[in-house]
Amino acid sequence: MCRCFVVPLFHLHRVRVLDMEGALTARDRVGIQDFVLLDAHTSETAFLDNLKKRFSEDLIYTYIGTLLVSVNPYKELDIYSKKQMDIYMGVNFFELPPHIFALADNAYHTMLAEANNHFILISGESGAGKTEASKKILQYYAVSCPSTTLLDNVRDRMLLSNPVLEAFGNSKTLKNDNSSRFGKYMDIQFDIQGDAVGGHILGYLLEKSRVVHQNHRERNFHIFYQLVKGGEEDLLHQLGLESNCQHYSYLVQGECANVASINDKNDWKTVRNALFCDDIHSIAYWVIASVLHLGNVQFEPDSKGYATLNNSTLHNNTIPFTVDHAIYARDALAKAIYGRTFTWLVNKINDSMENKDSSCKTVIGLLDIYGFEVFYVNSFEQFCINYCNEKLQQLFIQLTLKSEQEEYEAENIGWEPVQFFNNKIICDLVEEKHRGIISVLDEECLRPGEATDLTFLERLEEKLDSHPHFVTHKLADKKTRKTLERGDFRLLHYAGEVTYCVVGFLSKNNDLLYRNIKDVSLQVSTHVLCETRKGLFNWFLNYLLSCRLIVASQFKSSLLGLTDILMSKEPWYVRCLKSNESQQPGQFDDVLVRHQVKYLGLMEHLRVRRAGFAYRCRYDVFLQRYKPLCPATWPYWRGVAAEGVEVLVQHLGYLPDEYKMGRTKIFIRHPRTLFATEDAFEV
Ligand code: ATP
Ligand code: MG
Repeated sequence: MCRCFVVPLFHLHRVRVLDMEGALTARDRVGIQDFVLLDAHTSETAFLDNLKKRFSEDLIYTYIGTLLVSVNPYKELDIYSKKQMDIYMGVNFFELPPHIFALADNAYHTMLAEANNHFILISGESGAGKTEASKKILQYYAVSCPSTTLLDNVRDRMLLSNPVLEAFGNSKTLKNDNSSRFGKYMDIQFDIQGDAVGGHILGYLLEKSRVVHQNHRERNFHIFYQLVKGGEEDLLHQLGLESNCQHYSYLVQGECANVASINDKNDWKTVRNALFCDDIHSIAYWVIASVLHLGNVQFEPDSKGYATLNNSTLHNNTIPFTVDHAIYARDALAKAIYGRTFTWLVNKINDSMENKDSSCKTVIGLLDIYGFEVFYVNSFEQFCINYCNEKLQQLFIQLTLKSEQEEYEAENIGWEPVQFFNNKIICDLVEEKHRGIISVLDEECLRPGEATDLTFLERLEEKLDSHPHFVTHKLADKKTRKTLERGDFRLLHYAGEVTYCVVGFLSKNNDLLYRNIKDVSLQVSTHVLCETRKGLFNWFLNYLLSCRLIVASQFKSSLLGLTDILMSKEPWYVRCLKSNESQQPGQFDDVLVRHQVKYLGLMEHLRVRRAGFAYRCRYDVFLQRYKPLCPATWPYWRGVAAEGVEVLVQHLGYLPDEYKMGRTKIFIRHPRTLFATEDAFEV
């Protein structure tokens, strides 16, 4: 399988071999733009020095072959203009300084040349720059690809989907002021001419708990603050809202309604203009308002200890809950309303970007998913997010390190295997049937009334006591010296250790709404929104409250679905690195960057890439293309294709070190050998 490191033939006639001398003389100042060109036995320190040198010159991009490494500069760089896009359009990787546009362009032209589907996997931890990278790529396609007036509308919608989804799905966390709290996979669809003709988004597990609870120095989703701070007086009046965040208990828990790097008022204008139809406007505003109002509903115990509302309108409709149950029910409803509205919004955006005619031929998928994260307290949400990152790392391993080496083996190419950490063991720990953490969690969720977060932990201890990547308080002595609290378990992830607190795992996984909550919520909507369109909202509420989920296993199957989608396409990689923890420009934290380089497997990737072969081609295909360059093979070669190729490359003067003959394919070490062969056509 010809998966990566392949230089598409399509480019070759335009490729000029990298000016090696030029690169070397500039090396002291700007470093090397492709790690493959660093000295043969590159150490991790040399790797980091090169990144740092380039970072200090605002050169945030560096290649490892066709993989792009990006270091977050935390400042605006003047490298994303239309002029820059034009420079990169149709030019090969190796001709210009590394850039996200070069990768986007290369994927695009390869897709056109080979008429197949591609995806760009953007990975890195929270705050590393994944979302920014995905926006740059989308902009590149929307702006640079050929256009017709008819298509402009669809492209605008694609671009506008970003501010809308960010408003509803991103929030300020301790790691990132604009952290994605959902996963996003977007297919950009192209027709046979290469026009971007449509788009489709798949959303993954929104972190709904944020709607009702935020940690210190974190916020709720941006849209709440945007509406409250930026909403027009009339609108706020209709929705019964005050223009002061302090008024809403769902907005003040983190004590940071105002964030220096965020202008909620301005963002409100952008989002309002991007919400493209009236129904979406009304529903979106209604949802935000009703959630805020819900959050302010307070309960008091009556003489029997049951919850009562201070608000008399709703008093008679409540069933005998304790105050804690009532709060749980209120929060569950707020989360359900918000979460399902998010899904509904994604569907609406998809309708607006849909490619209505069938001329769509190929796609480039863009994957921007929440990055690996470790907080002081980590809960169910971090567990899901980090599991997702394990899956993506596994995919990367399968598609690059493993499949590359397996192909050399299958082709009988002499090869010194490169050691790498395969994180499959951790994926299995989470997702294996019967024994994996998700299975155990689901089983416990099926024992309502009996199971608790702590019985879940006990079950895990029983099943996983000998697993090398799983530790709890009870098992800690056996496996590690580090102590653990009783209600915690620790996973040794590929990116580092994370301790999870089990509190809330069961209820978050169950995502249960009390049955009669729907009736109450209809009352709430009537109460809150007396002037707005009730019929529409009632329909919407029915839609919102129609199903129940088992969250983690549903997430697991959606990730398996995503893996299938990706495995059927050709991969491109952007590995984003976070330069420092304080989100400051000009700071390069050596320890932090080194850690990321390590766990992202960049050194292993470099070793495989360097020891490997940039290009491989089946003998018959290679011979067919290049036989005019050799009198012995032109116009026919009557023997075995492999022998014909051998004769051909001897004639062309390939040195023994430049290529290898496999069972079915020729492997060429460096693109420049092939470029020279292509150039021979012109002589
Ligand atoms: P998360 O996993 O939390 O969603 P992320 O990897 O998507 O994190 P981004 O939101 O893309 O991170 O980046 C965080 C911040 O870093 C951005 O808001 C921006 O301020 C800055 N940043 C990232 N990439 C760039 C860039 N190429 N140029 C300038 N600033 C950048
Ligand atoms: Mg993001």
